[in-house]
Amino acid sequence: MELNDIKGIGPKSLTLLNKLNIYTVDDLITYYPVRYDVLKRTDFKELDPDTKVIVDGRVESIPLVIRIKAGLNKMNFRIATDDRIFGISIFNRAFLKQHLGVGTNVIVIGKYDSTKNIITASDIKLGTLGNATKIEPVYHLTSGLTNKNISTFVNLALLSIGKNINDNIPDYLIEKYNFSSKKIALNIIHNPSNIEKLKEAKIRLKYEELFEFMFKIHYLKRENTKLDGIKRKIYKKDLENIYKILPFKLTNDQKNVLEEIRNDLNSEKRMNRLLQGDVGSGKTIVSIIAMYLNYLSGYQSALMVPTEILANQHYQNIKKILGGNVNVELLTGSTPKKDKQRIYEGLANGTISIIIGTHALIQEDVVYKNLGLVVTDEQHRFGVNQRDNLRNKGLTPDVLYMSATPIPRTYALTIYGDMDVSTIKELPKGRQEITTILKKNEEIEDVLNLMYEELKQNHQIYVIAPLIEESDTSNLTSVNELKDKMNKAFGKKYKIDLVHGKMASGMKDDIMNKFSKGEIDILISTTVIEVGIDVKNASQMVIFDANRFGLSTLHQLRGRVGRGNIKSSCILISSQDTKRLEILKTTSDGFKLSEEDFKLRGSGDLFGTKQSGDMFFKIANIKEDYKILVQASKDALEFLNKASISNLKIRDNLINKIKHN
Ligand code: ADP
Ligand code: MG
Repeated sequence: MELNDIKGIGPKSLTLLNKLNIYTVDDLITYYPVRYDVLKRTDFKELDPDTKVIVDGRVESIPLVIRIKAGLNKMNFRIATDDRIFGISIFNRAFLKQHLGVGTNVIVIGKYDSTKNIITASDIKLGTLGNATKIEPVYHLTSGLTNKNISTFVNLALLSIGKNINDNIPDYLIEKYNFSSKKIALNIIHNPSNIEKLKEAKIRLKYEELFEFMFKIHYLKRENTKLDGIKRKIYKKDLENIYKILPFKLTNDQKNVLEEIRNDLNSEKRMNRLLQGDVGSGKTIVSIIAMYLNYLSGYQSALMVPTEILANQHYQNIKKILGGNVNVELLTGSTPKKDKQRIYEGLANGTISIIIGTHALIQEDVVYKNLGLVVTDEQHRFGVNQRDNLRNKGLTPDVLYMSATPIPRTYALTIYGDMDVSTIKELPKGRQEITTILKKNEEIEDVLNLMYEELKQNHQIYVIAPLIEESDTSNLTSVNELKDKMNKAFGKKYKIDLVHGKMASGMKDDIMNKFSKGEIDILISTTVIEVGIDVKNASQMVIFDANRFGLSTLHQLRGRVGRGNIKSSCILISSQDTKRLEILKTTSDGFKLSEEDFKLRGSGDLFGTKQSGDMFFKIANIKEDYKILVQASKDALEFLNKASISNLKIRDNLINKIKHN
C-alpha cells in the first residue's frame, strides 16, 4: 500500500509529508513523536509563581486581535472554567480567531499572572480535559502540517494497514520478553493512554529496531568471512619506499594503520575496515597511500565522497602527492558530458587508475576493468546490495571507510561489529592549538571586535548559526538575521555570504568554492559546512547558540580552522549551558569529547550527524538503550545462526531488507 492509497491523504498532504522524509506507509507509522505533552488541569491552590498552567473552559468573549507591528499580533479573550474566569492573551495566532466563537471549549496552556488574572498562552487547543490526564504526542512539523494533521494521518495509516503490520522479531522472543505485537505497540506510541503502557511500548519498539540492526551487523560479518577477495603481494619495503617521497613524516599511528591495510590488501579475505581518526589527524594521506599500493598491484581505486567540493579537494590533493605517476580523474555531477564519456571509457579499459567522485561511482552503468579498492570518506558504509552489485560485475574490491566521528570503544565493538576498526589518535606534529573562547550572548560587541582583528589581517571566518525549525518557538539566532547583522558591521569592506541546508547543492558548492578561493571573507552557515573542507586561510570559527550542539559537533566545527599555519580561534557564543561548553576549552581530544557527549547526551548527537547516516535510529538510542542493544545483539546472532523452520520467513525478510536498502 502506498501513502496516497490512504483515504484522507491527498496530493497536497503527500508533498508535505515528503518534506518530513515520509515517503511510505511504514515511514508514516514509524514517524515517532519527539515528545509527549502531559495535559492535566492545574490545581490553582498549589500554584508556584511562574509555572506553566493548563486550564480548560469555554470562550466567554469574542477574541480581539491587536496588531502590534508587522509580523506581531496579539489576541485577547476571556474564558470561563467551572469556577473561575481568566483573561487569555496569545501572540501571533490571529488565524485561530475564526475557531474561537463564544461557547467553544478550549484547553489553554501558558503562564499565569495572578495579579492581572491573565494567562499568556503558548498554546491553545480545542476540546476539554475534564479530570483526566491526557498524554498528547508532539510531532516534528513542517509548515502547512499541524500536529493534529500528522496524528490523524498516522492513525489513518494504522487503520488502513492494520493486519499487515508484521513483527520483525520471532515469536519465541516475543514470548520470552512478554512483548505486545508491533501493531499494538505502534498504536500505543501514537495514542498513549497511560505512562506505564507507553514505556512498555517504547521498549518493545526499541528492541525491535536494535534487533534488526544487530541482525544486519551479524549478517554482514558472516558474509564478510568469504574468501573471495583479491590477493596482492605488497611488501613492507614497498610501503617504506613510499614514505620516502612524502612531503612530511607520517605519524606512528598513520604507519600502524597502513600496516594493517597492507595486510588486508594481501589477504584473500575482503577488507572491510573502518578508519576512525579525529579531524585533522591525516586520514586522507593514509587512503591515498592505500590507493597507490593498490595501483602498484595493478588494480583501480575509487574514492567516494559525499559532496562535490570534497571530491575536488581530494582530487587536488592526490594530484599533488602522486604527481604525474598515476592517472587520476574526477567525476562529479558537473563534469561535462564529453569528459564523462571519456572517463567511462578510461575506467572500462583500465587507463584510469584512481577515480574520485560521489556515490554514482559504483552505480550500474559504470564499468571498471579491475576495481580493487573502494574508499569512502565521511560517508556511511554501503550495504550488501551494493557489494552484490559489484560482485555481479565480477568485482570484489576491498573497502576502507573513513570517519571523523570517534565512537567509544564499547559501542564501536557492537555497532561496527562487522568491520575491523583502525584508529588514529595522534595528531601530526606542529599542529597549532586552537584557542577556544566562550562568550555570552550579550557580549556580541567583543565577538565583533575579535572578528575584525582577523578580517584586518585578510583572514577568513566561518560563522555558524543553528537553523530555526519552523515548529521551534525558542529564541534562536536565525541565519538571515545574522547575515544582516554581519553586513551592518562589516559589509562595507568585506564580502559576506550565506549557505544553508535548503539551498540547491549546485549553489551551495558555488559559494563554498568562492570561500575556498578567498573571494568571500565571512561565510555564514547552518551546520551544513561540509565535513572535511580544508581552507587554510580560515582562522576563526564563530558559533552562535553553541549550547544547541553536542561537544563532538562543536569539536568537528572547530576542526575546520587551524588548518594552515595561522594562529586560529573558535568562539562559542551562549548564555546557557556554559559548564558543558567549558569542556571544549580544556581538551582537543575528539575521543574524550565523544565520551563526554555519551555521558551527557546519549548517542543522539553522534549518530544524528550526516557522516554516520547508517546509524540513524528512529526510536532507539545507543547509549540510553545500551542494555537493550547488548541483549538484542545476542538474540539476533542466535536467531541468524539457528532459526527454526517456523521462523525462516522472518529471517528471510530481514535478509531481504538488508539487501534492498
Ligand atoms: P582528516 O583526518 O581530518 O581527513 P586530513 O587528511 O585532511 O585530515 O589532514 C589534515 C592536514 O594534515 C592535511 O593538510 C594533510 O596534508 C596534513 N597532514 C596529514 N598527515 C600529516 C603528517 N604526518 N605530518 C604533517 N602534516 C600532515
Ligand atoms: Mg578528511
